Amino acid sequence: MDFTNSNNLFSEAKRYIPGGVNSPVRAFKSVGGNPVFFERGVGSKMYDVDGNEFIDYIGSWGPHLFGHNPPFIKSALIEAIDNGTSFGAPNELEVKMAKIIKELVPSVELVRMVNSGTEATMSAIRVARAYTNKEKIIKFEGCYHGHADYFLIKAGSGALTLGVPTSPGVTKSNAADTLLADFNNIESVKNLINQNKDNIAAIIIEPIAGNMGVIKADENFLVQLRNLCNEEKIVLIFDEVMSGFRVAAGGAQEILGIEPDLTTFGKIIGGGLPVGAFGGKKAIMQMIAPEGQVYQAGTLSGNPLAMAAGYAALSYIKEHPEIYVQLEKNSSYLEQGFKENLKKLNKNFAINRVGSMLCMFFTEAEVNDYKSAVSSNTELYAKYFHEMLNAGIYLPPAQFEAMFISTVHSLNDLDNTIKAHYNSLKKVIN
Ligand SMILES: *Cc1c(COP(=O)(O)O)cnc(C)c1O
Repeated sequence: MDFTNSNNLFSEAKRYIPGGVNSPVRAFKSVGGNPVFFERGVGSKMYDVDGNEFIDYIGSWGPHLFGHNPPFIKSALIEAIDNGTSFGAPNELEVKMAKIIKELVPSVELVRMVNSGTEATMSAIRVARAYTNKEKIIKFEGCYHGHADYFLIKAGSGALTLGVPTSPGVTKSNAADTLLADFNNIESVKNLINQNKDNIAAIIIEPIAGNMGVIKADENFLVQLRNLCNEEKIVLIFDEVMSGFRVAAGGAQEILGIEPDLTTFGKIIGGGLPVGAFGGKKAIMQMIAPEGQVYQAGTLSGNPLAMAAGYAALSYIKEHPEIYVQLEKNSSYLEQGFKENLKKLNKNFAINRVGSMLCMFFTEAEVNDYKSAVSSNTELYAKYFHEMLNAGIYLPPAQFEAMFISTVHSLNDLDNTIKAHYNSLKKVIN
């Protein structure tokens, strides 16, 4: 494939934008080479600036449940834009949006719209701290909750109990307030709670993790987590920025049958526009200003274009519950195809899938937490990624990300992907 125009644009971009991109993973750092610049997306396909066509499995990192530019979202946007782009004052679409979120996700009694997943998680933590009048939070290693300072913390090595920042610019005091537990390991949570008695405001988790590859939290683990939070008066936050409306209309909490106190949303909720939301129990959410004292605000929050796109997406989900059956069927077809390829190639790489979130790890170990995820051979992933790219399949440019299947990936798309998967693997594993 010829990438001349992309390569030229990337050189130019680096002169004006740090690293040439507006979000780091796009730069292909973990797979090497130059990123592809895209011009157009339609359905399951994306077209780059050199005229190459790709079957897309990133879906803008999750939002495109219905593929690129679905006609019903486009027409909702056109209708909204005719009325103006922003009011900075209340609008009916905000009410409709809040109402439909509550209908689809019953644990959400009150909801506040924001502009990104990061804003949603950082605001959820703030209100949880205010509600409990406690300061520390627990997160799980390998879970991603956006880029607020107090989430950019990893476990300290060896005997260190304090976390350490994963980014320069994050303070030690932020690290001191964020405690790291192991995903799917309730003992690690109990230990932290015991060491920080009456000091934990919130536990935040991706109930279906999608940022260390795809890993579903064990049901029993989540039940115990729910019970612990009740006993210790800790706010349980499900970060469903990725899993919300992706794995089911009611998100991971619907499939797992566990109600968090607060939930954060993003990605699909914006129908492709920049949107996030956080919501949950009334007693907690009514502490948000102006009903309560916890400050949270946004110039463009509840923006009418974003609400129109998001409301179109959620309405479609509400009216077409059958899409999740179809997504499951197609995603399972892809998984089976991958598994048959692996068998033919005598490899037993782990494939984790929940609905239309899928990840193949280059390890034969079972992947159920961060440690097992990082046992994957990322060099092999990088080679596989480039083979797939050249075969016209656009995968996440990093091992520890999810592939997303949309409602418009056709059987033909899936078959072509399975074929490319076989040929690419065959080239790279020997
Ligand atoms: C993407 C993501 C975020 C961050 O959302 P942004 O809109 O990128 O700020 C937070 N949590 C999870 C689980 C995510 O997948």
